[in-house]
Amino acid sequence: MKPKNTAVILARVSSKSQEDEGYSLDSQLKLLQGYCQTNDLRVVKVYKIAETASKEKSRKIFSELLSFIAKNDIYNLAVEKTDRLTRNLRDAVAIDDWLQADKDRALHAVKENLRLHKEAKSDVKFMWNIHLAVAKKYTDNLREEAMKGWAEKLAQGWMPSRPPIGYMTAVQSGKRIHVPDPKTSRYIRKAFELYVQGGESVASIWAFLQQSGITSYNGRPLAESAVHMLLQNTYYMGVITFNGGTYPGAHQPLISKELFTAVQAKLHSKRPDKRRRLDALLRNMMTCGYCDKVITWEKQKGHLYGACQRDLTDCKINKYLREELAHETMLDRLGNLISPSQSVVEWLVKHLEDEFKNKNDSVEEHRRSIKARIARLEKMDEVLYDDKLAGDITRERYETKHTDIKKQLQELQDELLVTDTTLQQKHEEAIDLIRLTQTARAEYLSNDLSNDAKRAILTELFDSVVYKDNTISVTYSFFVQAIAEKSQKSREIIEEQNMLNRTGKKDSKNGGENVEKLQLDLLCPVWQGLEIGNITFSEELDFDVSELDPIYNEPNERAK
Ligand SMILES: [Zn+2]
Repeated sequence: MKPKNTAVILARVSSKSQEDEGYSLDSQLKLLQGYCQTNDLRVVKVYKIAETASKEKSRKIFSELLSFIAKNDIYNLAVEKTDRLTRNLRDAVAIDDWLQADKDRALHAVKENLRLHKEAKSDVKFMWNIHLAVAKKYTDNLREEAMKGWAEKLAQGWMPSRPPIGYMTAVQSGKRIHVPDPKTSRYIRKAFELYVQGGESVASIWAFLQQSGITSYNGRPLAESAVHMLLQNTYYMGVITFNGGTYPGAHQPLISKELFTAVQAKLHSKRPDKRRRLDALLRNMMTCGYCDKVITWEKQKGHLYGACQRDLTDCKINKYLREELAHETMLDRLGNLISPSQSVVEWLVKHLEDEFKNKNDSVEEHRRSIKARIARLEKMDEVLYDDKLAGDITRERYETKHTDIKKQLQELQDELLVTDTTLQQKHEEAIDLIRLTQTARAEYLSNDLSNDAKRAILTELFDSVVYKDNTISVTYSFFVQAIAEKSQKSREIIEEQNMLNRTGKKDSKNGGENVEKLQLDLLCPVWQGLEIGNITFSEELDFDVSELDPIYNEPNERAK
């Protein structure tokens, strides 16, 4: 069994006069320690609250004491008098709770000769009870007053506490009311609208809200559970739920009651929602060309079909889109990006890397020359100072020169700060994007890549994918469009080459290398982006065509 003689001492002196009268902390401590010794109580810890302590500080010390005695199997708390225990009535209740939880716990009010515990006689409890009664009355009153205020606010249709995310407090004719927050309300509305769509889940709405920059009130990221709660908050449809009751709100709702009901139905559906488990690869990737809204996907007879919500009559011109057809278009557009010669892509990447290196070298060189000039000016300034000391130049002349040098130094130091640190990043991004255009089609088909990763690739390469008049049109992003054009041009050049090859004679000895070289000679200018449109095959093919090996013919033909 654990020893039940553990004790904690609390010594407190609350006013200057008490200290002056000899009721110092030390004398209180002496008294309490003597008492514990006499009564065989083992003092584990001593808490001291000095008169100089602020309200917050003494409150903090008392909280520490409360958690210490609760956690460390302390059975005795010794104080000088009950009113020394605490000036805060809430704390008195906390001490009472501590006593009530275990009959072996005791509060010793040494000067009052009281030993208070759960089963103490009523006369012993008397003073303590008065103390508590006052405390209880005080807190009950507070609660009543607060409830009165709340009831009044609720009756007027206003949330008595802070409104949920998406709303803010505003002052209207001297009254504090809650209005939609222009920064966040539309994302909250969108969250409800999105959630009822196929393929969406609490997790995907959570991601959406995070991407939209919605945080909790203290600026921390939202938890997924908070999003779950948010989707169930009746406040957004205009009904205040407070202290277990519901009240009609006077605030402007963000969503309709119908939408709220639909969201609840989906949230509480017991069997797993088929649509929720479905992660269509092209989710949120396409829009309807008539209403501009997103194409959503649903499974019908084993196939995924995409359509907008068909809000406009024109939307119905679009047939339900078979997913396989959409994939075909995606693969075709991704295929258009692939250069027929990967050598030229490698050349381009190398070219960009070299270009960066050269630029970087020249930046470095520039920095070095600035540093050298700074060093020279500093040296000049020193010499100038020596000259002044030696009396070689006048004070006025020194001041003028010195000020001039200072100014030049400042300018150079400013220049040194402005160095292009983003240069490398830009080059790396361009190179990554070029490489991505060449591998995207294979990655789209890969089983190793998640749908999220595939969607990220499409988002990177395509500005928009629009379904209109039963046709999917893809707009490449700016740089990607250039790559598509250069790949197309390269294909034309190589095709032309192949045709010439077929008519030309064979020379299989060193043909392969020549073709490679010729190809690069032809294709590099295209990819360099310098001569697009200026290349004419008759001019550029001023070679002995007979040297070419027809490697671009059918493989079996080549093997002969
Ligand atoms: Zn539409």
